[in-house]
Parts: sequence; C-alpha cells; structure tokens
Amino acid sequence: MKVLVLNSGSSSIKYQLLGMENENCIAKGLVDKIGFDESNISYKNQAGYKNKYTAVVKDHLSGIKVILDILMDKENGVINSIEDIAAVGHRMAHGARYFKDSVLVTEDVKEKIVKACEIAPLHNPPQYKGILAIEKVMPGIPNVVCFDTEFHKGIPDYISTYGLPYEWLEKYDIRKYGFHGLSYKYVTRRVGEMFNIDWKKLKIIACHLGNGASVAAVKHGETVDTTMGFTPLQGLIMGTRCGDIDPAIVPYIMKREGYDVDEISDVLNKKSGVLGVSGISSDFRDLEEAASKGDERSRLALEMFIYRVKFYIGAYNAVLNGIDVLIFTGGIGENSTRMRQAICQNLGDLGIIIDLEKNDFKGKERVISPLNNKVKVVVIPTNEELMIARDVKRIIS
Ligand code: AMP
Repeated sequence: MKVLVLNSGSSSIKYQLLGMENENCIAKGLVDKIGFDESNISYKNQAGYKNKYTAVVKDHLSGIKVILDILMDKENGVINSIEDIAAVGHRMAHGARYFKDSVLVTEDVKEKIVKACEIAPLHNPPQYKGILAIEKVMPGIPNVVCFDTEFHKGIPDYISTYGLPYEWLEKYDIRKYGFHGLSYKYVTRRVGEMFNIDWKKLKIIACHLGNGASVAAVKHGETVDTTMGFTPLQGLIMGTRCGDIDPAIVPYIMKREGYDVDEISDVLNKKSGVLGVSGISSDFRDLEEAASKGDERSRLALEMFIYRVKFYIGAYNAVLNGIDVLIFTGGIGENSTRMRQAICQNLGDLGIIIDLEKNDFKGKERVISPLNNKVKVVVIPTNEELMIARDVKRIIS
C-alpha cells in the first residue's frame, strides 16, 4: 500500500510517498514559494535520483499537480498512475475541540476543519487547501487528516487552563492545546524501541527545536505539559515567533505604533524571535556564524534561546520529578552540536550530562550521554510523515 503524505504551508507543500509494507520512503520533496514569480521544486526518489528546478506554481492546486506529475514521470517517477496511491494523509496543526484522533475526511469533518481554522488562522487554512486540491485532482481517494494537537489531549485541566475569565474557555475554547504532536509521537515511541523499553514506562522531556520550537514533558505515554499553547506562538523564543512575553506589551505597542490586530499578529509571528532580536536571520546557522564573528545581537538571540530551553527543561524536571530521557529533535536539535552542548551545560545536578565527543555530529539517531548515565540524552531525527502514514493505514483499513 502506497500512502502520499502532504504537509501544506502558506506557500509550500512538503510531500512524501511511503510504502507501508516496509514503512519506507519511496520519494519525497518540496514545492516551495507557491504564488511567487518563480517556485522551487525538489524531488528525491529511493533509487537515489535527485532533481531541483524552478517553475511557476500559482497555487496549491497547481502544486499538487506538479507533485503528481513528478511521481508519475516516465523516467524517474515511482508510480505508473494515480491509482497506485491508496490514500493521502494531511498534516493539520490544530484540531481545536473537534478532533482527538486522526480522521477520514468527510463533509462533516470538513465543516469542523473550517471551524478549527478560526482559532488557527495562520496554520490550518493552507493545510485545508491541500485537502481541497487532492479532492479535485484525485476524486474518490480517501483523505485522512492528522492533527498536531492530538498527542497532547491528556494535558490536565489545571495545566491547560489559562488564568483568564472562565467563560472564555467555555465560549471560545481558549486553553492550551500544544503542537508538534506528530513529532513527539514519533520520537517518544522511537526512544522506547532504541532502549528496548516500553515507552509508556518512561518519563521524557522532548525538545523539538526547529524554526518552530517547543518542549514537552511526557509521562507514561501522556503529555503532562508543553510549551506551546492556544497557538504555536507561546513558549520558547523561535525563529520568527516571540514565545512567552508579558501580554501587557501587546496593547501597549498597539497604541504606541498604531498597529491593528493583523499587524501586531504579523510582528509577533513573523518578525520576532531570534530574527527580531538579531536583525539578521531566523536560521541558526547564520546566527552561529554571525555570533562567532562577534555580532552582539546574534550572540544575544542565541543565548536567549538557550536560556529558555534550559528553563523549561528545569521546570519540566520538577513537574515530572526527574526524567529518564531527554530527546533532541527538529532542525536545530538534530543538527546543531553547539546548541545541544550549550543547552545541556551545567545541568549535571539534574542528571543531564552529555559526552562532547558523542555530541559532535549531525542529522543521525544517537545517544549522546555517557554510557550508563541515568538520564539518557538522545538525538532522534523526527519522522512526522511516518506517523501520518501509519494513521492513514489504520484508518482506511
Ligand atoms: P525545521 O523547522 O525543523 O526544519 O528546522 C529548520 C531550522 O533548523 C533552520 O531554520 C535552522 O535554524 C536549523 N538548522 C538546520 N541545520 C542546522 C545546523 N547544521 N546548525 C544549526 N541549525 C541548523
């Protein structure tokens, strides 16, 4: 059975075709800069063939057509026709109150997704566009939607409720949902396989550090707490998102700068974080390089990021009363030796120690704590696509 997994962003579609017999990746790639004058398209198949080119891709529907054409290409494609694909899995950030599990897309589900778009206006609408596009070009194919909020459904009410008027919870579902759930689902299960232990017996802190970044405290298979909240804006300082701030800053700046709601939301989501502080980049590679050349604001941005991750590791250690495993994943967690080292520095009293030699690598699965250390510190490249494809298989069978 072949499953196509799509992760649609506002101007991009990440795709992966998986064979579910061996759970292997048959082909994957990205259509980026959709709606721009020139879009970037990349493709890689299991035979090792790679291609990158530019074309005009005006919207998500055209993007899906491009993906299907690449997959069916006579020379380097991996399928003969659309019928070779059994189902399509879609990532969706916010399930709101409606979805506690992945679900087959029906008219009723689509109505609820549209309602969920109201509380996730930045993330859900492009993902919904992906579903509509597939319905057009692959009519009749089962679409399954998987939510990043699902993994966190067990957060206790005294942690998920904000100190706000209770009627906002009742009227508007204002509460902590948490995100990156598909990534946490993968890495927490995977760590159990690595150590041959039932993952539901472990107390885990997982750090998903990418352009969007969060930390989760997971005890015996359930999220206890996570840093993202009602939206993916809360918590850590991220590439372009501010993370935790004093909420009083928002009305203050709106008055002083004359911003309306959309403008302030744009600044907090897209112009803040390490980009806003450094004024240079949201990419940690650029910041590490600039800081090493003496750029003060890049140094500051990196130190702020490191402090906030450490802060939550400490907090969640208290919440869980000690941990068995600390996991790093996401683009920064998987690839930045320097960030992992800086985050773990001086956490020895919590049992968190890393071996600097073992930590000197990127992009692979590896234990980086010394042998026999009580707390295992582990790097695991995430695999959200596999989690989606497994749910697709479960639901359509
Ligand atoms: P993600 O959102 O998980 O794809 O992560 C993307 C981010 O990972 C990029 O914006 C970079 O900041 C970061 N990243 C990727 N490779 C490296 C690296 N070698 N060193 C530091 N940061 C990296």
